[in-house]
Amino acid sequence: MEIEIKNRTDDQMTFIIEGVDVSLVNALRRISMVEVPTMAIETVEILKNDARIFDEALAHRLGLIPLSTDLEALILPEDCDCDNHCPRCSVSLVLKGKGPKTLYSGDLKSQDPNLKPVSDTIPLIKLKEGEEVELEAIAQLGMGKDHAKWQPTTTCAYKYYPQITIDSDKCEACLKCVEECPRSVLEYDEKKKTIKVVDLENCSLCRTCQKDCPNEAISVDVTGEKFIFRIETDGSLSPTEVLQRASDILSVKADKIIDFKEGGS
Ligand SMILES: [Zn+2]
Repeated sequence: MEIEIKNRTDDQMTFIIEGVDVSLVNALRRISMVEVPTMAIETVEILKNDARIFDEALAHRLGLIPLSTDLEALILPEDCDCDNHCPRCSVSLVLKGKGPKTLYSGDLKSQDPNLKPVSDTIPLIKLKEGEEVELEAIAQLGMGKDHAKWQPTTTCAYKYYPQITIDSDKCEACLKCVEECPRSVLEYDEKKKTIKVVDLENCSLCRTCQKDCPNEAISVDVTGEKFIFRIETDGSLSPTEVLQRASDILSVKADKIIDFKEGGS
């Protein structure tokens, strides 16, 4: 297996993965989306709410705030032996304010300095003169398969690596393919008087160029066992952390199948 990272930021990564079966790439995608845990607010105790928002709507809004997650520091509530919540599986955040003002995600005060909202500027409640809000929220680890608020990824997708072949004997450089390509993958080479591929990885395999070529000079195909993988997170974890954890989970699953087969035979 070969991996080439095309670009990487704190919350986005695009890479090319080669020499693997589509089922492995898809398993990695699915596990990244719904089985890698992140922190999210799960329980809210509202002590005071004068604002013009129902308690339930406020609690739901709080649940959707992406929180910075340290997977080594906490354990999943189902793996904890406490009755309700304890410092091993939960972090408490307090929100308090009096109007006139708008409370933002940055106003949530966390008991753990390592756990805080990824962004401080998400508006939560608008308080009018004299209105007050006071609440305690409990954040816990969870998985996207239980609720979308625990999905670390906002984008997680792959596509087959495209392959574009231009038959120079048939091509009359009518430029129809260049004009029709919705992603500007092709260009006319003035010097060589031919069509050239300038942005292959941007090709979405729509085959518009192939269909519109009057001479059938161009063909679009996929490269076997080669994929372009793109992952973007909500900032709770970095793309590398998500993929590393997803690979670990996949490895454990594979071991279980091997053990089951060996045990059964
Ligand atoms: Zn606990």
